[in-house]
Amino acid sequence: MKNKGLLFVVSGPSGVGKGTICQEYVKTHDDSVLSISATTRAPREGEKHGVNYYYITNEEFEAGIAKGEFLENAVFCGNRYGTPKKAVLEMLESGKNVILEIEVQGAMQVRSHYPEGVFVFVIPPSLKELENRLRGRNTETDDVIKKRLERAKQEFALCEKYNYILMNDNLGDALSKLEAIMKAERCYMPRNIEFIKKEFC
Ligand code: ADP
Ligand code: 5GP
Repeated sequence: MKNKGLLFVVSGPSGVGKGTICQEYVKTHDDSVLSISATTRAPREGEKHGVNYYYITNEEFEAGIAKGEFLENAVFCGNRYGTPKKAVLEMLESGKNVILEIEVQGAMQVRSHYPEGVFVFVIPPSLKELENRLRGRNTETDDVIKKRLERAKQEFALCEKYNYILMNDNLGDALSKLEAIMKAERCYMPRNIEFIKKEFC
């Protein structure tokens, strides 16, 4: 019997390192894939359509919502972001674990439709380090960085809605912890009971 994949939602304040963790994770774990979101934000230098995001217009985004194409969607610091539903469901069906690297409003929408998902909140070792990482990335203006740090406070307030807290101090340690979470979740009793009943009872 082929197991369906598990859905992992990874959130946390901008600059904490979620993107780095998730991209590194899927490079070395071929049982897991990263969902590619749609956004109305402009591409950063080096980002590619269909690789980092699907860069679409506001009108295209609204049409996607009207057609029910998103599993969740949210506005973050003035831009819209959404998870394409069909691709995620197909990847889960094919047995892959799917990682959604999304902000908290979207994560809460996923939790309400898909409570069997695993919700992971990434935290930095300190607020100062969060700011250093956001500035060090050098991809946002000062004004946008301020907005993102302000927004981080609202995000931390929602961390209790998540199943796991992942401190991203050292990247290697963070990757090991994510791997441990994924392995433990596979072994979680309710995810195995159907197989046990069918096979042994
Ligand atoms: P997010 O996706 O959460 O917005 P990024 O993955 O873009 O954050 O990471 C923000 C910056 O922090 C990047 O420059 C990245 O290289 C750096 N970074 C990520 N993880 C760590 C870490 N453990 N220690 C130091 N810097 C890190
Ligand atoms: P960035 O502009 O830095 O790429 O992303 C900004 C925020 O949007 C990050 O917190 C990121 O996790 C989140 N994000 C990316 N894709 C999605 C998505 O599809 N849905 C939601 N709700 N948030 C997303």
